[in-house]
This record gives sequence, C-alpha cells and structure tokens, in this order.
Amino acid sequence: MDRRLFLTQLSLGSIAMMTLSSFRNEMDALGASDKMPVLFIGHGSPMNAIENNEFSQAWKTVAKQLPVPKAILCVSAHWETKGTKVTGMKMPKTIHDFGGFPQELFNKQYPAPGAPEMAAETKSLIKKTNVEVDMEWGLDHGTWSVLAPMFPEATIPVYQISLDYSQPPQYHYELAKELAALRRKGVLIIGSGNIVHNLGMMQWTDKAFDWAIEFDSIAAKLIEEGNHKPLINYKDLGKSASLAIPSNEHYLPMLYSLALQEKNESLSFFAAKNLMGSISMRSFKIG
Ligand code: ZN
Repeated sequence: MDRRLFLTQLSLGSIAMMTLSSFRNEMDALGASDKMPVLFIGHGSPMNAIENNEFSQAWKTVAKQLPVPKAILCVSAHWETKGTKVTGMKMPKTIHDFGGFPQELFNKQYPAPGAPEMAAETKSLIKKTNVEVDMEWGLDHGTWSVLAPMFPEATIPVYQISLDYSQPPQYHYELAKELAALRRKGVLIIGSGNIVHNLGMMQWTDKAFDWAIEFDSIAAKLIEEGNHKPLINYKDLGKSASLAIPSNEHYLPMLYSLALQEKNESLSFFAAKNLMGSISMRSFKIG
C-alpha cells in the first residue's frame, strides 16, 4: 500500500503529514553525504571526569555542537598493544587505570554500551593490518574521563582502538586514514592524549616551562596550516619536541585525528592551555 494512501486511511490530518515530511527531511539531512566531525582532546588529569572545571566545561560545550553520534570510537593514549585491536564487547567495563586519586574517582562508572557491530566494521575497513577484536579491555580513563563530561547519560555506544606500540608515527597516521568511512556512518572519532605530556617534569603550578609553550605553539601552527608531515616526523622538530614527547603514546592519538582531516576542512582549537609545567591541554575539532 502507498504510504500516503495508508496515512490518509488512518485519517491523519495535514499537520501529521507535515510532521512526517519534516521528519523525513531531517533523516535526509543526516544522509550518507554528511561527515561527523573529528575531535582531539587533551585529556590531562583523570579528575576532569568528575570536576566541573574549564576543561570539562569546554568539552561539554563542544559535545553540544555535534550531531548526535551513532557510536563513538576513541583512540586513547592508555591502550597500547602489540598489533592493533578494537574492543568488541557489548558492555565494556570502566577501567580505573591510575593511582593516587580520591575514592570518588574510583567509584565513577561510565556504563555506556559497546559497539560490537561497528567494531566488526572497523576491522573490515582496515587493510593495513589484521585488526583483532578484543573482548578483555573496556573503557580506560583516556576514554571515559572525557566522555563523562561530554555525554553524561552514557547512552551512546563506545568502543576503542588500540595503539600498536611497535609501529612508527607514519604507520599510525596511515592506519587512521582507513577509518575515514566511519565518519559518514555517524561515528564520532576522538583522539584522546596530550600534545605536550612529560609526567616526569610535571609540577604543581599553572606556569608552563618555556619548552612546553614553545612546542605547543610549533604544533599549533603546523596543525593550523594543515602541514602534517613535520608533525608525523616530530623527532626532527628539535629539543622542545623531545622534551614534550618523551614517549609518544599521548601524542599519537593526535595524529589519528589529524589524519582524518579532509581537504579544506576547517579546524578549530579549544581548551588550549599549558599547565603543570609540562602538559598541554590543547584540543581541536575538525569539521
Ligand atoms: Zn593520559
């Protein structure tokens, strides 16, 4: 039966027809040609999960500007593996992978469902390596500490992709490009790390070291120019780079987000602040 005839027979009036038509327009607006933005979030302290501060507020504001994601894929600094894995469980557990924080943070749960179907699809999209579907991990604090302020209801399915610690930055950048199709399926991809991250030199102060400010500015300029090559080859960027990135697990998620920037796609910074001597909270949104 014709849909219009069917509705007429149900005696739905013209107002109902208009509602249906605007609903269908909305569905078309979320069609295959639309791309979900991509985020990089400088996550910093896990306390941002439960504190109402300038960072958690900035993340919340950005989340409100996004179309509602069908799923969230997080590239967290805190999941390094041999080979690449994606989480495939239905109900990922909240992992409290830190020490020395208040009990309140250990009590915090982020009970979002997993995204097994998207995980399978992600595995099939990646040709660079044979991605393993993992049933053990869950959501580490690189993921849930940023999602808790952004999507407090925890109703959107979330899954993670790991960082293969045996691979160079160029490899990660290329692998990330293979995730591009997910943006058109309503998946919000978030890189979660820090551009400047040197825990060994961290201080309880709001003042940042000169080298931290310097590297954050160098990176910001290259990001703004869309000049990704020097960012991939960051080891050639001098002394400030080696101090800012003593190990690259917090830096690599940023390369995943950048790799997904398409030609002429806009990028805007938020929460750009250096703190505790050696941490940059600089975050950005693509698209
Ligand atoms: Zn971290």
